[in-house]
Order: sequence, then structure tokens, then C-alpha cells
Amino acid sequence: LKILRLILGDQLNHHHSWYKDDQENITNVFMEMRQETDYVVHHIQKVVGFFSAMRNFADHLKERDHQVIYMKINDKNNQQDLGKNLEQLIADHNFEKFEYQLPDEYRLDEQLKEICENLSIESEAFDTEHFYTRRDDLEKFYEGKKQLVMEYFYRDMRKNHGILMTNSKDPEGGKWNYDKSNRKKWDGEPEIPHERGFRKDVSGILEEIEKAGIKTMGSIEEKNFNWPTSREDSLSVLNYFCKNLLVHFGDYQDALHTDQDYLFHSRISFSLNTKMISPKEVIDSATNYYYEHKDEIDISQIEGFVRQILGWREYMRGIYWKEMPGYRRSNKLRNQNELPEFYWNAETKMNCLHHSIKGSLENAYAHHIQRLMITGNYALLTETHPDEVDKWYLGIYIDAIEWVEITNTRGMSQFADGGIVATKPYVSSGSYINKMSNYCKDCHYKVKEKLGEKACPFNSLYWNFLDSNRDYFGDNQRMNMMYSLLDKKDPEELEKIRKRAKRIISHPSDF
Ligand code: FAD
Ligand code: SF4
Repeated sequence: LKILRLILGDQLNHHHSWYKDDQENITNVFMEMRQETDYVVHHIQKVVGFFSAMRNFADHLKERDHQVIYMKINDKNNQQDLGKNLEQLIADHNFEKFEYQLPDEYRLDEQLKEICENLSIESEAFDTEHFYTRRDDLEKFYEGKKQLVMEYFYRDMRKNHGILMTNSKDPEGGKWNYDKSNRKKWDGEPEIPHERGFRKDVSGILEEIEKAGIKTMGSIEEKNFNWPTSREDSLSVLNYFCKNLLVHFGDYQDALHTDQDYLFHSRISFSLNTKMISPKEVIDSATNYYYEHKDEIDISQIEGFVRQILGWREYMRGIYWKEMPGYRRSNKLRNQNELPEFYWNAETKMNCLHHSIKGSLENAYAHHIQRLMITGNYALLTETHPDEVDKWYLGIYIDAIEWVEITNTRGMSQFADGGIVATKPYVSSGSYINKMSNYCKDCHYKVKEKLGEKACPFNSLYWNFLDSNRDYFGDNQRMNMMYSLLDKKDPEELEKIRKRAKRIISHPSDF
């Protein structure tokens, strides 16, 4: 049987069992397509990153004598659409069976199902063999439960996979979760090693993208591309993390700093999401390193890291498949505003936003707390439509693929799902930002001031958010303290807060 196998841009799994089969009648196809580059405006580094990683994996297969058809973005026979390209290939090469790996995006899942229904040859879907869990495992785990609290799922995963456990039921160190000790501010010490970066010349790919006329955002240094685009690179980033950064990862996980784009974060998300490495490999490497260096590395550092990958990452994937396609349209707080222009040029006097957005435009990266408590926080406080927020997050970050972007953005950050992922909205005034960063020190605004032209905009926005969403959050026990503080505010002051918040929301470019 002559078989055609499709490999999508985020299915670059070297260890997939596909490659152990007898390859004689198998052809693997990769496609760079406008349907993928144009569904949202992507960061230029994201497009370059995906094309480079796909090309490297195709070369890897070719070197091992696998048959590969690689359609580049400007190839004449490339019809830029998955269905049309497949039909053409099947007709031209007389393939008798079509095989694909289950996509992680709902959009592609639907498209492939439809394509297969209309194909004249048989087809079969395979697992990607990447995640710990299957698409519907999480749904089964929470069956009959009202709240889908991540912590219970995470503990179950730890037990099932024997990760950071002393025996079948007791967690290493005696506690399941060290989140509370993962909240230090970084004040210049301990020294942060330079990231495991790269200086790749991507001018060739860049020229092709320009020639194709693909619209992108953000900037790129064409001779200094800084992201891992092969399995080798990815392993190197992972090893570097274990040796140099893990020791302080947990402590400074939530810290923010003007001079540090990456702090102690791993920069492994693009490698993981394209499947160049697997979550099991990452967790095994990090935990092995921890056990070998137990006298130097505290349990809270490794637990903080494992929780992100074994807990949050698998949890978000499960939520996505449980809640799609409705999730994509959720907007429980009925927010309607657009994102301000400064999300595309970083031109704002608010220093926290300026730095977080500038870094995102320059690196196609921001770490978790920048995404959640700076850009996400501001978007929610200014009542931005979740579609707008999703579009920006899905475009700007190199690791953004809908299953993990939308659950974090619409769910965790924007509370648009009404509390499936987060039990309370992630909003804050300037004081949290000041506590975790040095942003406020050189800001045009004064973080301690509540009202007046120089007052930190986050302050009035925060109280205004609580005030205007009282119907929604007033009964939420986790917000009792905030509401009792709001209730103590003088009505005149509250009126001024509302007024200033309205002005910030309606005239964002003035701030
Ligand atoms: P580290 O901080 O070193 O963490 C290690 C790994 O843990 C990450 O590589 C990632 O795979 C995993 N991880 C950590 N937090 C999460 C999380 N909340 N959900 C899922 N996995 C997690 N992550 C993406 O991969 N793609 C996205 O599009 C994305 N969008 C986000 C949008 C918002 C609004 C927020 C708040 C978070 C988003 N995240 C997303 C999660 C997180 O911010 C990134 O995974 C992380 O910043 C990637 O950098 P790192 O590899 O240095 O991560
Ligand atoms: Fe951001 Fe307010 Fe601090 Fe300025 S003062 S950096 S706007 S939190």
C-alpha cells in the first residue's frame, strides 16, 4: 500500500513510532501554507521558527533515507491550502492511503476530518505520542465534579507517573505544592546566567517570507535568531536549564525586572509545543538532575517546574478538548473594547506595559507573569473583548498554539470562561506589580498614588473593575477581602476612581 503521511508544523516528534515502520512505501509530507501563516498576524520570529524547525526535521528524515515531500511557501505547486495540496499529491503520486497525527488544534482537527470524508482513498489518524494524557483524560477525571481545580489533577498525575514521589502516595519533601515559596522579587541577586541563546543566520527564510508577502508583527535580527529550531538545540536548552537555572527557578518564577527578559525561565515552550522534545524528557531530565544535586537544589525549585509541565500544560490541553468549540466564543464579562495601539509599538508611559510589550515585540517571548499580570491584567481591567486579546497573544508569542494560548488567555487571564480555569480573576492594582518588579521605580506614574494625573493607572482601574463587576464577583468567597476594602471607600473617592478609570479606558493612548 502506497502511504502518504502528513506532518504538521507542531508535530516534529523524532521519537514517533511512525519512523520505526518499514519506510519503503511511505512518503512524509510537510507544507508551509498561507492557511497557517494568515489565520492571525504572527510575530515574524514565530513564522521563521516554525519554518526552520520543519525544514530541520525534514532534513533529519531525509538523512535517514525516509521519503519526504517538502512544500515551501513559494513553491509553484503549493496551493496554500491543506485539502487542495493533499488532493493534488494523492492524484499525482497515486497514494492509496492517507495517514495523519491527531492535531492539537480544533480548527485543524475539523478540517482534517472533513478532508478525510471526501478523500477517494482510505485514511487513518494516529496519536502524536507526545503528551502524558489523551485528549479526553481530563474530562473523565473531573466527571461529576463542579470545580475543575488544577491541583487535584496535578496530584493524580504525580501519583500515576511516580514523579517527585517517595512512594506510591507521599510527595517528595512532604508537600504537594510549594507555590507559596515561589514568589520572590529579584533585586539583582543571585546572578542570572545568560540565556542559552543562538545566533542563527535566517536571512534566507526571511527573504522567502518577504517574497510571499506574509503580514507579520514584531522584529527580528536576521543573523541572530535566538530560538532552538532542532532537537539538538532543544536538548541543549534543556540541559542548560537544568545545570544553570533550575536552582533558582521556583524562587523567582513570578519576578519581573526591566533588565531581564528571561530571568530563570527555561525558554523551552517552543521546543515542547512543536514536539521537538517531549514533556516526559523534560521532566525526567530536570528531576534526575535534582536527585543528583539534592544538596544544592531545594525541592521547591523542582516542584515549581514540574507543576508547570505535568500540571498546567496537560491540564490546559484537557480543558481545551473538553470545552471547545464553545470556549472560543466565551465572553462571560461581556467585554467589548479594542486593545490599544501600544500593544503593537510599546509606546506607553506605563513602564510595566512598556517593558513587557517591548520585550514581546523584540523576542516573541514574555514570561508567565508578564503575560498574566501586566498585559493580561491591563486588558481585563480595561474591559477588552477576549477575541482581541486572543488574537494578540496567538500572534505575538513563538510558543502560541491555540490549545495552550486560548486556555491561558481567555480562561486564566481574561476570566471569559466564567471561572473554569481560574477561581477568581487575575487582576491587581499597581502594588502587586511594585512588589514583584522594579518597573515602578522609573515609571512616569506614582504607584502609591490613587488619584490625580500622576497616579498609577492600575490603581483606579483595579477598584473600578471590582466596582463594576460586583454583580458577578460580589459572592465569590475568594474576593471577600477585596470587596470589604472597596466597601470602606468614601463614595466621593469612589466616584473619582470611576471617572479616572473611564478616562483611561476611553483614551488609552494618553497614558
Ligand atoms: P517556564 O516558565 O520555564 O515553564 C516551563 C514550561 O512549563 C513552559 O515551557 C510551558 O511548557 C509550561 N507552562 C508553564 N506555565 C504554563 C501554563 N500556564 N500553561 C501551559 N504550560 C505552561 N504557553 C504556551 O506554551 N503557549 C502560549 O500560547 C501561552 N500563552 C499564554 C498566555 C497567557 C495570557 C498566559 C498567562 C500564559 C501563557 N502561556 C502560554 C503559559 C506560559 O506563560 C508559557 O508557557 C511560558 O511563559 C513559556 O516560557 P518558558 O518556556 O520559559 O516557561
Ligand atoms: Fe506600572 Fe503603575 Fe508601576 Fe507604572 S507605577 S510601572 S503603571 S504599576
